[in-house]
Amino acid sequence: MLRVGVNGYGTIGKRVADAVRAQPDMEVVGVAKTRPNFEAEQAIEKGFPLYAAVEDRVDQFDEAGVELAGMVEELVEESDVVVDACPSGIGEQNAEMYAEYDTPALYQGGESADFVDTSFNARSNFSDANGADHVRVVSCNTTGLSRLVAPLREEYGIEKVRTTLVRRGGDPAQTGRGPINDIVPNPVTLPSHHGPDVNTIFPDLDIDTLGLKVPATLMHMHSVNVTLESDPDADEVRDLLEGESRLFVIPEHFDIDGAGKLKEYAQDVGRPRGDIWENCVWGESITMEGDDLYLFQAIHQESDVVPENVDAIRAVTNAADAEESIETTNEALGMGI
Ligand code: NAD
Repeated sequence: MLRVGVNGYGTIGKRVADAVRAQPDMEVVGVAKTRPNFEAEQAIEKGFPLYAAVEDRVDQFDEAGVELAGMVEELVEESDVVVDACPSGIGEQNAEMYAEYDTPALYQGGESADFVDTSFNARSNFSDANGADHVRVVSCNTTGLSRLVAPLREEYGIEKVRTTLVRRGGDPAQTGRGPINDIVPNPVTLPSHHGPDVNTIFPDLDIDTLGLKVPATLMHMHSVNVTLESDPDADEVRDLLEGESRLFVIPEHFDIDGAGKLKEYAQDVGRPRGDIWENCVWGESITMEGDDLYLFQAIHQESDVVPENVDAIRAVTNAADAEESIETTNEALGMGI
């Protein structure tokens, strides 16, 4: 069994901990938190040993009556791999601690790509992470774009990708985020950081991205145009995308007209927290105009990176190859809706 620690038990960390626990070849050694909030209580409730991430906050846990298993350093020492899901920038600060205990670490998309051995997307570059000490699982949007680019590149070749990302203003629990009533080019200059981020996975891909922020919390929406090196018909492209285990091509008869109904559907099928781990591509949006492919896809920002973290654990420990890992992860989570 691979022993996994999770440092930073927030939106991403708590989902990764549950997903790791569901795997047949992994166990959660514990999770680390800075504060004894509701998520800390839930960690205990679920039976995850809870470690304090910051020495001088231990008192807060004591005062709240939340029992600690120890300090984060002990968690790191005990773990075969640590998943760092701390807020952007903190992961890089933690890298020294992971190195000190010789524990390979996974970081999240908010971290810089510069200090890690490789950025990671399971479908696209799994083996680049084999044996690596510091691996960054790319952001929700970059994961969503990479999953789409990988099969298109293999099957048809790609001349250029152009994508406009309509981004949710914040996650549902992020009370301080916005905009509340606006439509904001973000950033107003081109390119948005997403294109260069996709290049950390596909260095030679020609990609331009533009970003906006809107008053929504549910999902991101991508308006995608890919100029292919050949001109398949739309049905052929649709078949290709339907064959990808982490792309959900929404059938027309589902009558799902936006992110709201997608989230409703995820809850109806019993997805934990209403999560949607797959890219959601509108089937009828898949269109070819000459060699230009167009489509819309929605990305559930809080959860699409979760299976990728699980795969990255197997990649750094050489526990499985890409195909085997993806299949195991998918089956354990119940992917495919
Ligand atoms: P979050 O704020 O929901 O969770 C972070 C958790 O880390 C919180 O519980 C916080 O208390 C804790 N924390 C803060 N400092 C810490 C420290 N020093 N040690 C241990 N724990 C600490 O953030 P999140 O949304 O889960 O984001 C985490 C990372 O994942 C970021 O890099 C982010 O860019 C990336 N990411 C977020 C999303 C998303 O939509 N939420 C999607 C993909 C990737």
